[in-house]
Amino acid sequence: MNRIPPSPVFVDYCCPRCKGPLVLRTDEYTCVACNAHYPVVLGIPDFRVFPDPYISIADDHLKGGRIAERAAAGASFEELVRYYWSITPDEPQEMAERFTALAVAATDRGRYLLATQSEVSAVLQRSSSTRVLDIGSRTGGLLLAAAERSPEVVGIDIAFRWLIVARKRLEEAGRPAQLVCCCAEFLPFKSDSFDVALAENVLEHTARQQALIEEAHRVLKPAGVFFATTWNRLAAAPEPHVRLWGVGWLPLTWRQSYVKWRKGVSYDHVRLLSVFQLTRLVRRTSFGHCVMELPEFSAAQLSAVSPGQRAIVKVYHRIKNWPLIRGLLLLVAPVFHMVCIRYLEANAATVQPREIL
Ligand SMILES: [Zn+2]
Repeated sequence: MNRIPPSPVFVDYCCPRCKGPLVLRTDEYTCVACNAHYPVVLGIPDFRVFPDPYISIADDHLKGGRIAERAAAGASFEELVRYYWSITPDEPQEMAERFTALAVAATDRGRYLLATQSEVSAVLQRSSSTRVLDIGSRTGGLLLAAAERSPEVVGIDIAFRWLIVARKRLEEAGRPAQLVCCCAEFLPFKSDSFDVALAENVLEHTARQQALIEEAHRVLKPAGVFFATTWNRLAAAPEPHVRLWGVGWLPLTWRQSYVKWRKGVSYDHVRLLSVFQLTRLVRRTSFGHCVMELPEFSAAQLSAVSPGQRAIVKVYHRIKNWPLIRGLLLLVAPVFHMVCIRYLEANAATVQPREIL
């Protein structure tokens, strides 16, 4: 395969384990402090401390290599996503089709999120050199939306193969981003590096959720914004990954066997949270608290549902911020939008979240 140019570097790296300085030798970063080695594979540095639970690091590199070969042969972004699912036969066809459609629509979804979330939008408008970290980029939909708003964006994912797909999306749009394979709980960036950290539907796929939030706090600058979306465990809607009702209401061990029985797929690595669990989790981190928002549905999302569902959503939009209703909706809403702000004592008064849970 032709040599691939390395990913651009807008934000310097440090060792994800000890946060010590690194030196780059041919296709490898080495930590000066702890002597850990991190390879650069197909132009993307791999700073993982542990592998993606779905695949070994060696197999992930191999799969990424097969996708990169397709990309080099001229396949489009969408063709790469379809190719990925064609070489991932354990996923049922119906789920692969749904995930492909979601990947294609992800940039529009990302643009809507960045434009409508007021804290993130305010930071992006404040300066033309805002640094954005997208945690768990997958196929790069939100990452591309961020790259359209800021010249210095960094996308990380534990899945090396998905970064190869994301790179194609960025190339097609002519928007570069720094792509890094790493664990969200062990970020290879120095403290105070970013103005915004995003995590779209990532928390529920992380084994160490508190460590992810703590790392987001560490790499944010003072007054930086951490914006995360995550599915509600107790939602009055089907479980979004496997489209089954009531999964989140079952005890953890039952959830896994129930999904295996009904859909034939693993549910071992999905950990949805309720509003109570999420709030308790943030309280244990350096952020201390967060604002919980109930999302608005975009015009595109509304046009894709039946007239009956549209009518329900319109009522939901009207009543979702009524005090009593809001509390009830937070219990059963399909998804939460969470905003945490990193403050320092000196400027705490100026960056108070609008509402503290
Ligand atoms: Zn180190």
